[in-house]
Amino acid sequence: MPKILQLSAHVADMIAAGEVVERPASVVKELLENAIDAGSSRIDVAIENGGMTLIRVSDDGCGIADGDAETAFLRHATSKIRDAGDLEHIRTLGFRGEALAATAAVSRIELLTKTADAEIGTRLLLDGGAVRLHEETGCPNGTTILVRDLFYNTPARMKFMKRDSVEASAVLGAVQQQALAHPEIALRFFKDGQQALSTDGSGDLCAAIYQVLGRQFAQGLSEVHGTWDRFAISGFVTRPTESHGNRSHQLFFVNGRCVKSRLLTSALEEAYRNQIMVGRFPGCVLMLTVPEDTVDVNVHPAKTEVKFLSERDIFDCVRYGVEAALRQTPGKIEARLPQQQPIPQPQQTAAPAPKKDFYRTMNAADYKAFLQQLGKNAVTASPAVAKTVLQKDEQIVADQVELPLPVSHAPQPEPPKETKQPDDAPWRIIGEVLSTYIIVEQGEDVYFMDKHAAHERILFEKYKAQQQPIAIQTLLAPVSASLTPEEASAALENLALLETFGFELEDFGDDTVLIRGIPADLDPEQAQAALSEAAADLLAGKHLRAEDLRDNLLHTVACKAAIKAGWHTDPLERQKLVDEVFSRDDLKYCPHGRPICIKLTKSALEQQFGRA
Ligand code: ADP
Ligand code: MG
Repeated sequence: MPKILQLSAHVADMIAAGEVVERPASVVKELLENAIDAGSSRIDVAIENGGMTLIRVSDDGCGIADGDAETAFLRHATSKIRDAGDLEHIRTLGFRGEALAATAAVSRIELLTKTADAEIGTRLLLDGGAVRLHEETGCPNGTTILVRDLFYNTPARMKFMKRDSVEASAVLGAVQQQALAHPEIALRFFKDGQQALSTDGSGDLCAAIYQVLGRQFAQGLSEVHGTWDRFAISGFVTRPTESHGNRSHQLFFVNGRCVKSRLLTSALEEAYRNQIMVGRFPGCVLMLTVPEDTVDVNVHPAKTEVKFLSERDIFDCVRYGVEAALRQTPGKIEARLPQQQPIPQPQQTAAPAPKKDFYRTMNAADYKAFLQQLGKNAVTASPAVAKTVLQKDEQIVADQVELPLPVSHAPQPEPPKETKQPDDAPWRIIGEVLSTYIIVEQGEDVYFMDKHAAHERILFEKYKAQQQPIAIQTLLAPVSASLTPEEASAALENLALLETFGFELEDFGDDTVLIRGIPADLDPEQAQAALSEAAADLLAGKHLRAEDLRDNLLHTVACKAAIKAGWHTDPLERQKLVDEVFSRDDLKYCPHGRPICIKLTKSALEQQFGRA
């Protein structure tokens, strides 16, 4: 029998390091958490070569007393937990007491620290966890930790590191998450000597979003604010028209901690159902506040997964919170006209043309205007807007969930109905242009309404609300539709289902299907096209839940039954469409997420004509 020996503390640290310290970004995350726990109001992070040769984190927090400095690097050394009972109330972020020990085990560390009441600071050097030097030094209050040559003594782990640029992106992601979680802390990030991010520490989340994620993201947001049972949600979500191609712009925080959660992703996306284009995703920065005993944040030491004890309530809190925010979003999007350049006066030199990369910088006036647009009138600090960093998808894509988990749909309480009245100024139809857009005047605004998008949404809502199957009109002469073999078999396997959507079909052999009846609103000329699209929905919907497939089929029927752009529409029909859209406030986008109305304001026109 081999003899059982206890591992030396050093070997144990190296093993722990493998769990906590995966890559430079995980070191930065831990060091940032420590700096935040230390009550800092300003933190600087710098890396060189993706963090592989140097990571430096400086804070102005409480510092470490000279007598505690070496202890802080011992395994299970923490000032944050005293006994097992404390585990129930994990208020601070880091709490395992092993981040410093694990990092020190696989790098060379320099610590400079001073508490406010100490006369002089402490300097500590460690190599692979062993203390090389401990001396007094002059330094400001707070703590600076330098981590050099990460994994220098674990070549096996070093091999797993990606290109420096990839590691740097992951570090940036970690810094961004903390910057958003803590708008009250002024955070800066320097990459190889270049400043790549800076927040002003004003405490305003909207300002932090702008400084961290850029102007374009910050401009198209709706504010979320709500409570559900013991859970509270706040933050910002993108409007349906400002969707993204992937989920990398979805950031969720639970009690200040950035987390991954399929539950949260699917609750968010549920709120956008039928308002966003297929294959497009909403973005968000959402903060959930939940009682500490209802969440387990410690599923894995280095991971950010959470477990909620009450999933249904969390789901509803997010879903209804976001839905309420979207309901209040103005549905009629304002036309974006190019800014008029002031006409240069003879004695003045002409203003320089805006640069191509201009769009991520904003002057103070622009910035205030966009904050006001978000309903935030109080701008306190002037934001450091000079440089915000371009967010590459790869940066956080790795941290994102691939697919939303289907959530069981138990009967749920109805959300409180909106009491907001639609704008009730009278409207007047001016006419129709390009056989597509109906022009309407209301108050001081002019609207362009896409008649197809409007009709499609109205029909979709009608079908969705009705309990019975869609009414069928029997065709005088059945139409034979030749489909692809896959479409034909999908249709024939779902005859009963298709009948509830208004299609009465019969197998005619050889991938041909005989259409005997079609949805009542449909023009018989559309029969074949509608069926082939419905069959394609069935094929694509194999892995969808029933409810999503149903919505897709309703989209298809609504789209085919709706009046088309280019068709002649008689004035009565036009009036009916406009009245529906202007008297209801739930008709904002077509079921694919395209806007129904675009607004041109009087002031935008005046500006263009040089009257303003
Ligand atoms: P934990 O954060 O889980 O307590 P760490 O290994 O990360 O464990 O840190 C050990 C201890 O070192 C902390 O509990 C804290 O007392 C001290 N410490 C670490 N970083 C800082 C810092 N930036 N400022 C003040 N104290 C710190
Ligand atoms: Mg810690």
